[in-house]
Amino acid sequence: MKFDELKARKPNEKKLITEINTLTKELKEVKDAKEAIKVVQKSFKLSDKIDTNFTVISIHHSINTNDKKISKLSDICDEVGPKLSPASNEFDHAIMDSKFKPELMKKFGETMFARIENSFKIFKPEIVPDKIKENQLVNKYQQIIAGAQIEFRGQTYNLSSIGKFMSDKDRDTRLEAAKAYYGYLEAHDSELGQVYSDLVNVRTNIAKILGFKNAIEYEYHCLGRLDYSADDVAKYREQIYKEVVPVVLKIRKRQAKRIGVKKPIFVDYNLEFANGNAKPAGDSAYLVKCASKMYHEMSPITGDFFDKMANDNLLDLDAKPGKMTGGYMTYISKLKMPFIFSNSNGTSSDVDTLTHEFGHSFQGYLGSTIKVPGNRMPTLEACEIDSMSMEFFAWPWMNLFFNEQADKYRYAHLCGALTFLPYGCEVDEFQHWVYENPEATHEERCKKWAEIDHKYRPDFDYTGFEYAQGHLWMRQAHIYQTPFYYIDYCLAQVLALEFKCEMDKNREKAWSKYVKLLKMGGKYPFLTLLKKAHLRNPFDNGNVKKVVRPQIKVLNSFDDSKM
Ligand SMILES: [Zn+2]
Repeated sequence: MKFDELKARKPNEKKLITEINTLTKELKEVKDAKEAIKVVQKSFKLSDKIDTNFTVISIHHSINTNDKKISKLSDICDEVGPKLSPASNEFDHAIMDSKFKPELMKKFGETMFARIENSFKIFKPEIVPDKIKENQLVNKYQQIIAGAQIEFRGQTYNLSSIGKFMSDKDRDTRLEAAKAYYGYLEAHDSELGQVYSDLVNVRTNIAKILGFKNAIEYEYHCLGRLDYSADDVAKYREQIYKEVVPVVLKIRKRQAKRIGVKKPIFVDYNLEFANGNAKPAGDSAYLVKCASKMYHEMSPITGDFFDKMANDNLLDLDAKPGKMTGGYMTYISKLKMPFIFSNSNGTSSDVDTLTHEFGHSFQGYLGSTIKVPGNRMPTLEACEIDSMSMEFFAWPWMNLFFNEQADKYRYAHLCGALTFLPYGCEVDEFQHWVYENPEATHEERCKKWAEIDHKYRPDFDYTGFEYAQGHLWMRQAHIYQTPFYYIDYCLAQVLALEFKCEMDKNREKAWSKYVKLLKMGGKYPFLTLLKKAHLRNPFDNGNVKKVVRPQIKVLNSFDDSKM
């Protein structure tokens, strides 16, 4: 079955609630463990059915936010989703109260039960109206961002497609494009600021209803962080601040010299090389061809799987008017296949995104044999190890995508992996401050952002872009959509660099370790998963240093002055 054959249907709230309630009743009345197991398995099927429809609607909506019919269905999902929670919660209670709980636990594993325990902490029927409101606010943010129509030199662009001009080798083009980009945000500043304030209030209110100290505690539970806390994360940021910020300052000094800008401002750092950044040698159709060849050479399973995604229309790669920004992979239960969404714009990030999202997809595919839906995919920080490591596993094939510019790509990619870490921590530290001070005003938030930005990127000069200095965070969708998600990329980047260090020594060994990690899916919480995969705990002091130092050596092995 191909993606196009899946119909987006209007979710029938009443019918779905009845279906869930029927299962709850059945589970309460079962006579033996065998029957109980059967009912739980039926609930998995139902959850896959509901999930498939919601996912299909969300994919279509993200591809074309201007489609009124889909937009309406998406609004209905935003409302129906939270309304199903009370019934699902009842069913989960029936599992936990079942006489046959030990047998169920033996059959489905402990993590599912830990997840249910966790879900009880983050749900009360009283929060449903706020959850609906939260969805609507996130939707509003997406509409403002996706609706951008930016005039630039006689053409209209969205926030994704204008991106390539911000890394143009001509400085005037870069700055002019950046003016247009931030001009759009500035024109929508009060709207975007208000949406965020409303989101912070809603989330803080939900946390209060549920009895949490603040929204930080609540959101950590939502992200399924069962085995680490905000304190661990703060200490981790400290490692990045001490170990990585000085490295990044050196990388950017070298970059400024390379691109020949004496007094670079932050926009200039989008350009890696004076003669232009590495450019993929073709459009997205060309990249798909290259990726197919690469994945066939990488391993038999990746090759066939990639072709299946391409043939079944599970890739939507090009930037188009009305399309949401960014890139994602999502899993379609009914097809047992993932879907990749991105906004190709002719820059090297098209290749990053393709390999990154394919890493997620490969995990989704390997995890598709796991019967418990919640166990198929790990928590988000672990998901990002899958994708970010795949970016590095793809290195040997970069000559396919970039021809003679492959080393340019590799060098910039590794620089990017390191320079990202301070920025990621900045986004995280900002959010912790925001939810610790929910009463702060928009302007106070922006002031705080500028302060944290200066801590992690002290060399960033905003001359001529004073607005961006305090407001740059508003373009980071994660801050609106999924609070505290962003640090997951930083945790995962360090683990991806651990894979990189290993593949530099022994590729075969690194690959089999990687596949083993992916196959475990979400059967274990984060730190247990790392232990089982023989990966180091990034929170332990010293483990950031262990991967960063060898990669500085790799960077130094390139002669970037000749690129
Ligand atoms: Zn990702």
